[in-house]
Amino acid sequence: MTKIRSTDASNIDDRRSSGGGGGGGLGGLGSVLGGGGLKAGGGLIGVLVLLAALFLPKILGGNATQSAVGGDAAQSADQADGTCSSDLEQIVCGAANDVNAFWSTEVPQVFATQYLAAKTTFFSGAVSTACGQASSQTGPFYCPNDEHVYIDLRFMQQLEDQLVGTTSDLAEQYIIAHEYGHHVQHLLGTSDAVSQHEQQDQQNGHLYSEALELQADCYAGVWIHSAKQRGLLDTDQEVSEAFDAANSVGDDYIQSRGGGQVDPDTFTHGTSEQRKRWLNSGFTSGDPRQCDGTFAEMGVSV
Ligand SMILES: [Zn+2]
Repeated sequence: MTKIRSTDASNIDDRRSSGGGGGGGLGGLGSVLGGGGLKAGGGLIGVLVLLAALFLPKILGGNATQSAVGGDAAQSADQADGTCSSDLEQIVCGAANDVNAFWSTEVPQVFATQYLAAKTTFFSGAVSTACGQASSQTGPFYCPNDEHVYIDLRFMQQLEDQLVGTTSDLAEQYIIAHEYGHHVQHLLGTSDAVSQHEQQDQQNGHLYSEALELQADCYAGVWIHSAKQRGLLDTDQEVSEAFDAANSVGDDYIQSRGGGQVDPDTFTHGTSEQRKRWLNSGFTSGDPRQCDGTFAEMGVSV
């Protein structure tokens, strides 16, 4: 357990259903992988490698496709209470609060840009955003149009229960840090530049979005570096478990495509090797500027 847990809900926008649990379910592992890789050729290979390396043994060994998040965990993950009280809520709230605090000093210092805190929205089932409608199957995502990070806590519960199989908080907090990395990219204008390049150069558009995803992983690593320096991590094992989580999540970055419907398939992400490597790059250097290297690696510039 990290010391990053928090009960401070001031950065949380709780839009979960107020009724009982249930809901539509998470839709199984496909949703956790994200749709992004299932479209473009390179991404498909990445997903298949991920699937083979990480998920199949667990699918075969454990009933993972049933999305079986049961009992009290499902209840607390589903129901709005406006607090950060459950274990899972404390883990997510702690990461959101600490990542916001970290970038609020880092972004002005390093990039001479004002940092505006982004809220984290909890939802269950489906949610309406400034980027369109999204369901739990979208996975965690960041919407630049309203500057919120969106999380269905059942996704995190599923990650903890079935994919990571770990007690580490940091594995889940890495996901939050990755999404806030997209917020930093939004504030710096990087994601807008990427969108423009994608429209102008559709053939190579996936290279820009992959570089963007890897940069968000790298930013997450920079935050983990800081958390370690500040004595917030318990063991190095936590870090390696976060790296395993980097393997376990698919594409998530989405934005409005004009139809009012969130379309996660538009983006692709790097391979698991690339994701771990860039997370590690941020973690070892602690320098967000060197995270720009993801674009050079993809042979593009913004
Ligand atoms: Zn992402």
